[in-house]
Amino acid sequence: MTTTHSPPQAPFPELAPGPAEPLAVGPARLGHAAITYAPAREILTRATGFMDAYDHTLNPYSGCSFGCAYCYAAFFSRSRQTRDDWGRWVAVKENAAAVLSQRKPGALDGKLIYMSSVTDPYQPIERELKLTRRLLEIMADRHKPKLVVQTRSPGVTRDTDLFRRIEDNGGRVQVNMTVTTDDEDVRRAFEPFCPSNAVRMRAIGEVQAAGVEACVTMTPLLWANNPDAFAESLRDTGVQKFIAQPFHFQRGKFVASTRDAALDLMADKTGSDRKTFRDKYMAHYRRVFRALQAALPNLGEGKDGFAPPF
Ligand code: SF4
Repeated sequence: MTTTHSPPQAPFPELAPGPAEPLAVGPARLGHAAITYAPAREILTRATGFMDAYDHTLNPYSGCSFGCAYCYAAFFSRSRQTRDDWGRWVAVKENAAAVLSQRKPGALDGKLIYMSSVTDPYQPIERELKLTRRLLEIMADRHKPKLVVQTRSPGVTRDTDLFRRIEDNGGRVQVNMTVTTDDEDVRRAFEPFCPSNAVRMRAIGEVQAAGVEACVTMTPLLWANNPDAFAESLRDTGVQKFIAQPFHFQRGKFVASTRDAALDLMADKTGSDRKTFRDKYMAHYRRVFRALQAALPNLGEGKDGFAPPF
């Protein structure tokens, strides 16, 4: 998400007891994150709010071990505990493939699907479980969806064969990679468990080079030390579409464990303090946006920028 992945809908409405066809047993822990497994009643959720131009959102997981400090999804999780522990737990929808398979072939033809709105479909557990991949296989073989994939992970390059298969079978795919800054200190403060932005840029360049539509989403665009060099490195990926959005510090919420470090760093970067850095941040955002606009093709902004690409 959104935005981080994308702004909120309902708090994981599809998590409920349902038919189970468990994955082969997966790990109970991966790195810093506890992994649990539960069946879901539905895997496609009606898209609302910021994503209302889409038909469905698709979240193979609840929770996200990338643990971004600003992740709005954290504030829609089930309890104070899961909010406070955001980034340190993942709930796998173990029957997601079986549930998606229950849809009649062709039922998702032409449907706009956003994967994912409250989790990252390529966070580290995906390497072990290949759950996102199974969902893509089902879509490739049985439907012609219009799919937007949103991630911060280079793991997405694994599935370029399936993105192309969906296209070859009559569907559409765009892969969005979120890149938020050219400053690794900022990245570490706000996105402590995410891959570096350089790694993400390389990955989205590979997706583009593999013949899959690609987009870099700077949502939120946190900070750029050198806007012109940042723009050039974005252009060098070969990607042709970009979306930016400011972080709304006024309204923004932070995951408890990372809030102080993130706010202190932004105050430091803007040469102000926690109480006054917001205006300076917005002036910085506007400066960076103008530099990006001058250098990049197809730079959208905010909700309009997030409109379905096809
Ligand atoms: S990558 Fe995960 S933690 Fe970060 S914004 Fe997306 S869903 Fe939230």
